[in-house]
Amino acid sequence: MRKKVVVFSQIDSEILSRLQAQYEVVQISPKLGDVNTQIQTAVQDADGMIGAGRLLNASNLSAAKQLKIISSVSVGYDNYDVNYLNSHHIWLAHTPHVLTETTADLAFTLLMSAARQVPALDQWTKQGEWKRTVGEAQFGQGIFGKTLGIIGLGNIGTAIARRGFHGFNMNILYHNRHEKLELAQALSAQYRSLNELLQQSDFVVVAVDLNDDSKELIGVEEFAQMQKHAVFVNIARGSVINEQALIDTLKNNQIFAAGLDVYKKEPLQVSELFDLNNVVTLPHIGSATAETRQQMAELAYRNLVDVLEGRTPRYLVNPQFS
Ligand code: NAP
Repeated sequence: MRKKVVVFSQIDSEILSRLQAQYEVVQISPKLGDVNTQIQTAVQDADGMIGAGRLLNASNLSAAKQLKIISSVSVGYDNYDVNYLNSHHIWLAHTPHVLTETTADLAFTLLMSAARQVPALDQWTKQGEWKRTVGEAQFGQGIFGKTLGIIGLGNIGTAIARRGFHGFNMNILYHNRHEKLELAQALSAQYRSLNELLQQSDFVVVAVDLNDDSKELIGVEEFAQMQKHAVFVNIARGSVINEQALIDTLKNNQIFAAGLDVYKKEPLQVSELFDLNNVVTLPHIGSATAETRQQMAELAYRNLVDVLEGRTPRYLVNPQFS
């Protein structure tokens, strides 16, 4: 009998074809009704799951009798209840590294767009407001040689720091729970407490994973530490910051601008952010280039197939069962 795989989000069509050739495949789709009900039914006799962007926990996985692997097409795994998966000996795999450089590119895109008011001035130009030479209201913040503070010097944080150090001659500060001496040395990056980093940086970029320690890591008190000309960028997860605190900070012009790719509730349909000119909002596109999404799908496919064929996959979040 063929093994059964549940595809719980849209995935690369070529990968889907390969899966359909090897396994019995059930696709979950909002077009077919309530997604959680579909998942609850489909997981009952499923051996593996692949996809991204859905909350998977006891409430929709409890009927699973033989599930061995959830293969996430993402590096972040905050959508999954890892404790639940551990207690049921279900492996969780993810896709680190292949999206690092693309996501770092996007972080820098946000940093530069917010610093130079790119979207607002694009609109301003197109609306015929460019009637004479630009004035102070159109001025931005210089980037070259400034201080870049990275919160979360992991894979993506380091790739962002490299861009700042080598490309823009920036002075790099970082904050993690543990100092990263070797990584930091190559970039002359200096460790700071969170408050010191916020006080001393011209640009602050958040690149932590979402965990119990990083939830709402940056709130009212933290935003208050930042400099008036500073630019704040979040490419990590929306829940790493207190979104309302950032909105108030921007409304009061306590910092110069922000660039966001992630939000507490996604997709973002209604938000006070939409009324603000000093924030650049993107729809969670950190890894969204055709080639990177293809590489992520390929890696997630390999992680899934490895487990279904009795091998240990390369990128496990919970490797303790191997
Ligand atoms: P990573 O290599 O695991 O890096 C995460 C870093 O965050 C680690 O160095 C960790 O170091 C640090 N960290 C965790 N909690 C912290 C805390 N409370 N305070 C300070 N530092 C903390 O992961 P990555 O591959 O760089 O990815 C990072 C995250 O980016 C992902 O988990 C995902 O949520 C997000 N992401 C977003 C997009 C997008 O589309 N916008 C794309 C890819 C990834 P310590 O353990 O020493 O603290």
